[in-house]
Amino acid sequence: MEHNIFKRLLAALLIVLLLTGCAAPAMPTTPTTSGGLTVHFIDVGQADCALLQCGGESILIDGGNVGDSSLVVSYLQKVGVQELTAVFCSHAHEDHVGGLPGVLAVYPTEAVYAPTATHSSNCFDDFVYYADQQGLSITIPSVGDTMTFGTATVEVLGPTKSYPDPNNTSLVLMVTYGATRFLFTGDMETTAETDLVESGADLKADVLKVGHHGSDTSTGYRFLYQVDPEYGVISVGADNEYGHPCEEPLSRLRDAGVTLYRTDQLGTIQAHSDGTQISFTWEKGDAPQPEAEKVTYIGNKNTKRFHHPTCHNLPKEANQVTFDSYQAAQEAGYSPCSQCLG
Ligand SMILES: [Zn+2]
Ligand SMILES: [Zn+2]
Ligand SMILES: [Zn+2]
Repeated sequence: MEHNIFKRLLAALLIVLLLTGCAAPAMPTTPTTSGGLTVHFIDVGQADCALLQCGGESILIDGGNVGDSSLVVSYLQKVGVQELTAVFCSHAHEDHVGGLPGVLAVYPTEAVYAPTATHSSNCFDDFVYYADQQGLSITIPSVGDTMTFGTATVEVLGPTKSYPDPNNTSLVLMVTYGATRFLFTGDMETTAETDLVESGADLKADVLKVGHHGSDTSTGYRFLYQVDPEYGVISVGADNEYGHPCEEPLSRLRDAGVTLYRTDQLGTIQAHSDGTQISFTWEKGDAPQPEAEKVTYIGNKNTKRFHHPTCHNLPKEANQVTFDSYQAAQEAGYSPCSQCLG
């Protein structure tokens, strides 16, 4: 029943789009990305949706909730998307896959990727249905697969194992343009983060799409310091029922000196890379603090462990050594305290 209503709504949406498309003044014909990579973190509230454009080609990573479908389609129209080189569904939860059927109903798409080809929900069924309508089946990518759009590349880094919790099955995608790198992790949580770190993947990135809308179950210290991002983007709804983003990952990100851009505060956010530098523009509100203060870590000369300065197990002052960064402590042969930096 719900399914039918949804299909009828989509049909109606299509008609409206076709009509307005004919009546509206000419859409921009060249994407805004010529000569660079633009990543649009589309404000879909408590959900994820990123459009990436490079060299006239576009890919979409997640599509927000079912109710965001028309918003996403009109955003794509506004920035001149005519077809999609690839659509990625990070994992099967509605706030990631929900808006994708509506996109697939409108946009010719070359390939569709997800960590699973089946999931028992109406919105995932619709995703499979509208892919099938284009003659596409869902491709489950493997770690190490790479694809290109324009002159940018997407490399699949995870998931490195299979997991019962859909969040941990999230596709981990590294997008590289020139010397700049963007990491997308869907709703991956610390279990899969740790497995990913232990897989030896090169996680270093300039921009991290912060995992799971800033939930405390993601963005653990070990993972964060492998990525070592300069910028973080949190896709999150204002006053959401989950309390995202949580204070703990926010403080870990602050400790790492990450400048944070949040869709609940800034609306839709665009990151533009020229291959060397990354600049940000956004819809509303004041600029985020340019640089958070990096924390000083405290090592124990005897145990060779290092701690966050707020740890309850700090060594006596005589046995303390300080490090400017997490990496500096590791390079000095110290390992992180499992209680404060686990
Ligand atoms: Zn989510
Ligand atoms: Zn999820
Ligand atoms: Zn500690």
